[in-house]
Amino acid sequence: MALVEPFPDLEEILASIGAGGSHVAAIEASEGAAGNISVFVGWPMEFRRRFPITEEIALPAPAPHLASGAVIVTGSGRRLRDIKDDPAANLGVVRVSADGTSGPLYTATNRLFERVTSEWNSHLAVHDDTVERTGTNFHAVVHAQPPHLTYLSHIAEYRNEGFLNERLLRWEPETIINLPAGIGALQFMLPGSAALMAANVESLRAHRIVVWAKHGVMARSDISVKRAVDRIEYAETAANYEYMDLVVGGRAEGLSRDDLRAVVAAFDVNTTLV
Ligand SMILES: [Zn+2]
Repeated sequence: MALVEPFPDLEEILASIGAGGSHVAAIEASEGAAGNISVFVGWPMEFRRRFPITEEIALPAPAPHLASGAVIVTGSGRRLRDIKDDPAANLGVVRVSADGTSGPLYTATNRLFERVTSEWNSHLAVHDDTVERTGTNFHAVVHAQPPHLTYLSHIAEYRNEGFLNERLLRWEPETIINLPAGIGALQFMLPGSAALMAANVESLRAHRIVVWAKHGVMARSDISVKRAVDRIEYAETAANYEYMDLVVGGRAEGLSRDDLRAVVAAFDVNTTLV
């Protein structure tokens, strides 16, 4: 997928990040300053009127496929719920250099952060990998910490991807329709580490959302921030049902494999999961 003209303008993209941040907060998936959002924009866009301060930064890893594009990203320590009230104070824009190794970081005069998000390496690597594979000109990445998905990842068997998907896809027909590639599952890795960055890229090649064990999730979309946040909400809703069922001692039937096969056939879902 790629967006086609007329492209959204800067104000629309800033507003969409604000709305996405508010929705992540509304589903209680971003306590305090937890969570972060970034958007890759591949078409020419003028940022300096809104973000007049410029500093040169090195990228945490080369992102050659984003060359000459830009990534709008949340500042470290900023709250997702606050973005909508003043996007420019909470976001920065990195224009990626032609060789993909550095770039000017544009920020506003009232910016409320020193550095961009501590998960910047994972955001950048997922954008770069997706643009390389698909050639998209737009890509949104959201990291959030939804409590039911994260709770389940503290139970060893839910860190098995097959088991996790079998358990979570059985609560609502919408889950497999919206997550036809299922949910990825990673073991615990240090936040911001190179190991998490590499495993996360790998998992988000196959999935649109991945659980970072004992931490949270990352989701992506080549259509909108809202779509990425929706994926988090669908997965978290399924995890909430699973949690409820664990609490009451596993009394629910859930959708059967035949039920799910009927849903897949009726809605023409491209999946190998059922
Ligand atoms: Zn986090």
